[in-house]
Amino acid sequence: MDFSLNAQQAAIQRGIAGIAAELADSQLTQRDLAAAFSRPLWQVLHRHGFSSLFVDTERGGLGYGALDAALALEALGQHCQDTGLVFALSAHLCACLHPLLKYGKPAQLERWLPRVMQGQIGAHAVTEVEAGSDVFAMQTQAKKEGPGYVINGSKCYITNAPVADFLLVHARTGPGQGYFDFSTFILPADAPGVSISTVPHEKLGLRTAAMGDIRFEHVWVPEEDRIGAEGSGGPIFQVSMEWERTCLFALYLGVMQRQLELCVTRSELRQQFGQAISAYQAVSHKLVDMSLRLESARLAIYKSAWLLDQGRPDSACAAMAKLLVSDAAMQNGLAAVQIHGAQGILCGEIERQLRNAMPASVFSGTTEVLKNNLARQLRSAVSIRQASSQ
Ligand SMILES: Cc1cc2nc3c(=O)[nH]c(=O)nc-3n(C[C@H](O)[C@H](O)[C@H](O)COP(=O)(O)OP(=O)(O)OC[C@H]3O[C@@H](n4cnc5c(N)ncnc54)[C@H](O)[C@@H]3O)c2cc1C
Repeated sequence: MDFSLNAQQAAIQRGIAGIAAELADSQLTQRDLAAAFSRPLWQVLHRHGFSSLFVDTERGGLGYGALDAALALEALGQHCQDTGLVFALSAHLCACLHPLLKYGKPAQLERWLPRVMQGQIGAHAVTEVEAGSDVFAMQTQAKKEGPGYVINGSKCYITNAPVADFLLVHARTGPGQGYFDFSTFILPADAPGVSISTVPHEKLGLRTAAMGDIRFEHVWVPEEDRIGAEGSGGPIFQVSMEWERTCLFALYLGVMQRQLELCVTRSELRQQFGQAISAYQAVSHKLVDMSLRLESARLAIYKSAWLLDQGRPDSACAAMAKLLVSDAAMQNGLAAVQIHGAQGILCGEIERQLRNAMPASVFSGTTEVLKNNLARQLRSAVSIRQASSQ
């Protein structure tokens, strides 16, 4: 087993550290309070190729695979304090660009990739008011009519919706609520009949990523803009989630790395009772626990990314990686506030890290639902093993 990074991967990390100043924003605290997405910072990410990083080099992209993307998003999480922006980028990459590249036909890539290469932003719309964890309960319908489909329905809590240029939408095309009863469509965000909430939702964390709702009223989508075969929405959605649970969650590794370094520095500098607080075991053990959680989460993300690159996706491994990261981000966020004392409560980086960690146990599959799935997989793995040993 080789845990070392190759020269290109080390260069990705160094390159991103080198553009930290371009990604800095002295108004971030105010912008976070105002829940404002930054187009200029998105343009910086685009200029460096990150908004199209999965696109192959022949087409002008960076040609990154899963591990390269995870390393890049980890480095962006570490060096860009606007975690909402990196989250917005990751959602665009994993749930919009990746499915387009994986399932799009050559003609679809011809039509849609130029938009991505120009820095346009994608939003992935699946959740509905009555279909959250129970995705297959979605009511938005795409009805076949002549050479296309007519979409009616609405979606909610959609990352990037208020700033999106194009949408990847899942809608029912079958009679039931099964895995093969829905399909995936790509359409411009300003297509006739699409209305998107313009004021982003106020939310607890990731406030600088714009979130909104989308309504579809008799929206015409030509058949050429259906991604994959009719009824393949389930598999497409599942693959997107495997990439999201792996690559998107890597951004939190970078945030935790930066947070740990801030905590170590603070504990060395802060003197109480005549010595640095790092001299107290209650503080130093917190730092070690933070580091243990970060390292375990990092190994799980890298393994899941490596499996994706080997063409051996493993939904259990991706789910475990997501669970480890979301739990570590939350626990480490709490520990960082405690180590910083009152300073950790003031509006600023440390309290923002905790708020940004909290939604991670909800999106891309809630903790509870992922554990249900893992429990089912555990039971069937054990019964298969028992049956084969008899
Ligand atoms: C920051 C953020 C960004 C998001 N971005 C997007 C996006 O870009 N596109 C999109 O389509 N959606 C997006 N979502 C929505 C997200 O996918 C849903 O929030 C998620 O699927 C959970 O659905 P829900 O919020 O309706 O919660 P619910 O499904 O109502 O769950 C509520 C609670 O009940 C629990 N629960 C539900 N079912 C079970 C069960 N069977 N067993 C045990 N517990 C259960 C859940 O774990 C949770 O604790 C985003 C959400 C957040 C927070």
